[in-house]
Amino acid sequence: MSYNKPRKAIVIFTAILFHCLLVFHLLFSPVIIVLASSKGIVNASFFSFIIIFVFSLFFGRAYCAWFCPGCGIQEITGFFVKKKVKNSKAKYIKYFIFFAWMSVIVVGYILKGFTQIDLSFGMADISIQKRLLLTVGAIMFIVPLAIIFGKFASCKYVCWQAPILIIGKRIRDMLHLPGLRIKTNADKCKSCGVCSKSCPMDIDVAKKISCGEIVDDDCILCGSCIDSCKFGALKYCISTPRKAALRK
Ligand code: SF4
Ligand code: SF4
Repeated sequence: MSYNKPRKAIVIFTAILFHCLLVFHLLFSPVIIVLASSKGIVNASFFSFIIIFVFSLFFGRAYCAWFCPGCGIQEITGFFVKKKVKNSKAKYIKYFIFFAWMSVIVVGYILKGFTQIDLSFGMADISIQKRLLLTVGAIMFIVPLAIIFGKFASCKYVCWQAPILIIGKRIRDMLHLPGLRIKTNADKCKSCGVCSKSCPMDIDVAKKISCGEIVDDDCILCGSCIDSCKFGALKYCISTPRKAALRK
């Protein structure tokens, strides 16, 4: 069974839907929530980010590969750009961005408090031109990064949402909660390395086969490695974490 085909179809559909409806910024923009917090308003993206966090407590980073509109834009870009992102130290940039962004939001709500809930904040109160600008701006941010540094560069290096999911996934593993994972079977593995080549996040999957599970903060559970292994050494499972994998 191929996971990549349905996954790509779903994530490209979400990208087209959210961008065409001009609601990408309302639910996922890092900017609108900063403006909202400076006025003490609980806006729609406040709830989006909480939902994403709760999702990660069970599904890890699967949201990134299966539902994120930003990922969908990169999949569309991937039809033209074949360059693959590198597993470099640049992946830590996203944590600095997240920390700075979250600090501004927290300070905003501390100073202003939660004064009202306004789910349309950033929609009804801004012009269609500004909404278009925010939507096109997000695409103009993601696409050049993919062209220069490889497909999935924004997920790997700069995404402000990625640390939310990584924190959720780590809490899940720390508490030994069951969740969606990729199980490995070393007995079936022929060490061919095809799974590592297929990983869009440049994770050395083959190196992790002996752990019994793929544990990596950058694994977005896309299923490419599962699809690529002709020997059935990888599969999705719902389970608690394996100790060997967590130690690595
Ligand atoms: S593709 Fe399969 S057999 Fe080859 S290294 Fe990966 S897990 Fe092992
Ligand atoms: S390790 Fe497998 S599931 Fe995770 S990102 Fe790489 S290819 Fe996708």
